[in-house]
Amino acid sequence: MQEIKPIIIDCSERLEQAGDTFTQNGHVPLEHYVVGGQEYRLDDGFDYDVALTHTGDGILVTGIVRARAEGKCDRCLDPASFDIAGEVEEYFLFEEPDDEEAREEGFELVGENLTVDLAGPLGDAVVMETPFVLLCKPDCAGLCPVCGCNLNRESCDCAKKAEEAYIQSDENPFAALKNLKLDD
Ligand SMILES: [Zn+2]
Ligand SMILES: [Zn+2]
Repeated sequence: MQEIKPIIIDCSERLEQAGDTFTQNGHVPLEHYVVGGQEYRLDDGFDYDVALTHTGDGILVTGIVRARAEGKCDRCLDPASFDIAGEVEEYFLFEEPDDEEAREEGFELVGENLTVDLAGPLGDAVVMETPFVLLCKPDCAGLCPVCGCNLNRESCDCAKKAEEAYIQSDENPFAALKNLKLDD
């Protein structure tokens, strides 16, 4: 992922005691990011809208990220666009947990002067909403595995030729029947 600059939210004036909450929204000018070796471009960064709540033990951040992204179709490699509407949920603790299990699961800490950095949780929410398989359209015909033409726009006779070759080949269990003499 292209590094998102820290998004530091100062909660010191707004979260004075347990139960206090406020909302925060903003725009992050991220241009592109990479997931699983694939690069995705964002039309206009992403927007976020979150609520921050003082729980007594930490600050709970919940909300949503929204973006319009573009990647490559997994079948035909043409550009393919999709909307992102990802859930954000992160719990920043005031102190490191005592509990061994909680420590191993990983945790985020509230920074000095009651600040939290939203860059990680917001970036994760964008990544989580990126489709595992991206298609330019649900019925994309893909590329011909033989000649590489885009079968959405062009046609070729590779599939037909392959079928004919298979009928002639020894791999075809019925090929032997061609030479079978039925007269004895
Ligand atoms: Zn496609
Ligand atoms: Zn072909």
